[in-house]
Amino acid sequence: MNLSIQILIALILSVGAGLAIGPEGLPFVNKWIAPVGTIFINFIKMMIVPVVFCSLIVGVTSLGNDGKKLGRISAKTICLYLVTTAVAIILGFAVAGIIQPGVGLDIAGKVAPKVKDAPNFMQVLVGMVPTNPFDSMVKAAILPIIIFALFVGAGITQVDERRSGVLITFFDAAAEVCYKIIAMIMTIAPVGVFALLLPVVCKNGPKVLLPLLSVIMCVAIGCALQCILVYSTLASTLGGVNPMKFFSGMAEAMMLAFTTCSSAAALPVNMKNCQEKLGLSREVTSFVLPLGCTINMDGTALYMGVCSLFVANAFGVNLTSSDMLMIIFTGTLASIGTAGVPGAGLIMLAMVLQAVQLPMEGLALVAGIDRVLDMFRTCVNITGDGAVCCVVDKSERKHAA
Ligand code: ASP
Repeated sequence: MNLSIQILIALILSVGAGLAIGPEGLPFVNKWIAPVGTIFINFIKMMIVPVVFCSLIVGVTSLGNDGKKLGRISAKTICLYLVTTAVAIILGFAVAGIIQPGVGLDIAGKVAPKVKDAPNFMQVLVGMVPTNPFDSMVKAAILPIIIFALFVGAGITQVDERRSGVLITFFDAAAEVCYKIIAMIMTIAPVGVFALLLPVVCKNGPKVLLPLLSVIMCVAIGCALQCILVYSTLASTLGGVNPMKFFSGMAEAMMLAFTTCSSAAALPVNMKNCQEKLGLSREVTSFVLPLGCTINMDGTALYMGVCSLFVANAFGVNLTSSDMLMIIFTGTLASIGTAGVPGAGLIMLAMVLQAVQLPMEGLALVAGIDRVLDMFRTCVNITGDGAVCCVVDKSERKHAA
């Protein structure tokens, strides 16, 4: 049976079992089942740094000395990322505008969670340059690793063929080995997914979710629309990939993102499948996907649109059109700064609420159901990276022809 179908069955079984067990069974599930999920996710995380580093070096060396090409790929990628992110927030607004989550909600007695300060743009820029690349690898900080790998790749292309040949063969073989290891790890994905999702379902039963069902619905519908309208159009029209093929190629990574709530954890599988199932080049995937996993968070942006309207409604604040523009602007920036780890979007939501002076107490409302919202938004985050990757790959092929 196809692996995506096995994972889907595991997902459905975990929802059924989680609802049947309920919060009472949570201590048992946390003690005996959740660690299996953690082991699975640790295996995948183990591959993030090696696969990004080796593939990106191979990608850059395959560009040869063509700095122009790298510049062109970066420009296209970043533009597409910004546009799809802004579209996602607008879609979030539109769906929330129709459903109007939070209207008439009783907000008394809730306390705001403590939030860490979100990094500003300049801090992100400074943090991108590694002072010690090994330290960045230890911390799995993707952006500094990308910068370092770009330089190593560029350096390799500058030395004579005798030396560069050895290194290119080495990194190419190493990348290939990484993909083989990822394939081995994925064979236990159904078990891992079941073990990851079961505690979440046990904990977030209907009692927790029902009061805020309208917010969950907005995020879920918005995410579905972003996939159906934006990504399938992008993949088919500009990317030349049939939407059915696109989503079946993305399915494993999407389900992994859904269960782990981490774009970074889904990255190795996303890279492997975009190359093997969608036939995209290593040169493009090795650059576009790791970058997207750190700066392109369409699902998170959409969630910010929905949640700011929800908080405004819950506190009876009327948002003006300039407030909305401000949310689109800060939401796009905030999503760029969001790390691809669980719960990061909630911290960045604070920045957006602050920008339009919405009450921070609103975060407390969202925090209770954030894990569930995170599942939907992370799934969209990595699907958006895949769609942009199809477009950039097709346009590079055209350019080369
Ligand atoms: N969990 C999301 C991700 O990894 C980030 C977020 O919290 O919005 O893509």
